[in-house]
Amino acid sequence: MSLPYRILAYYHFAHIEDPEAEVKIHKDFLAKCDATARIYISEQGINGQMSLAAEDATSYMEWMRTRPLFQGIQFKAQDHHEHVFPRLTIKYRKQLVAFDADVSLEKRGEHVAPQQWKEMLEEQNEHVLLDVRNDYEWKIGHFEGAELPPCETFRDFDRYAQELQERIDPKKTPVMMYCTGGIRCELYSAILKEKGFEKVYQLEGGIINYGMQQGNDHWLGKVFVFDDRLAAPICENKESKTIGACHHCGEANDTYYNCANMDCNELFLCCPECLSKFLGCCHEECKQADRVRPYHPQNSHKPFRRWHHYFNEKTPLE
Ligand SMILES: [Zn+2]
Ligand SMILES: [Zn+2]
Repeated sequence: MSLPYRILAYYHFAHIEDPEAEVKIHKDFLAKCDATARIYISEQGINGQMSLAAEDATSYMEWMRTRPLFQGIQFKAQDHHEHVFPRLTIKYRKQLVAFDADVSLEKRGEHVAPQQWKEMLEEQNEHVLLDVRNDYEWKIGHFEGAELPPCETFRDFDRYAQELQERIDPKKTPVMMYCTGGIRCELYSAILKEKGFEKVYQLEGGIINYGMQQGNDHWLGKVFVFDDRLAAPICENKESKTIGACHHCGEANDTYYNCANMDCNELFLCCPECLSKFLGCCHEECKQADRVRPYHPQNSHKPFRRWHHYFNEKTPLE
């Protein structure tokens, strides 16, 4: 049976003359749809994640594909039983990938389709496999044999790239790079190319695309996603081993929570027992804080919600 919603993920580079106008065009189109989303539009293009009623997902993709600005846009689409974003957010953002330096995207890594990626992983020759996501994403799932460079600031990644240059032959050793949906690799592969690494490859459409086409071969654990699910299997009908561990007791676990203390909000892995013991908090001290979200053991927790999600507007604390 088909599910009533579709989750879409996509990005597309295009020169958008007037991003604010494009935000408006998007808002007008999506006002007619049953949709929740986080869509960012800049002078460089568009980066979006959405959930829509299945028929609205179809009309949105058709509409985008007919627009000359978005020629060649590729969507990753998964069926789902509910919306996964708290609201419909469409915004101008100066950078499509938040980063503290301007990087020229002129020279980027070569795109590799999932099947070829898998073959490259299975080849015996030497290569370096880089996961360019955040450590909290890595913790619950990654490709076997991958390493996690520090990617938060340009300085950290730059230092890492220098070390890598000494460790491998930047002209000969293939560097394979992946992220969730592909867009981060466009940036980090460009930095490596700029530094003289010649064989830089990036997984086309990211982990999401790989899971859809190749299943969970060579993948350990789950995939971190930036919506209500937080952790999703890489492909629907394959069992995945849990590789994360509860922050409090160390038991195998891959369920993330934001600390119930809204002024901490730390993202942490927690097992059900510790969750109830610490009332949804990451530390004992957080339990005593002023703004602690109400803890409902029965009511499954939705991440990234603001305070007003839990209390109505008249609550004096807001
Ligand atoms: Zn625990
Ligand atoms: Zn906390």
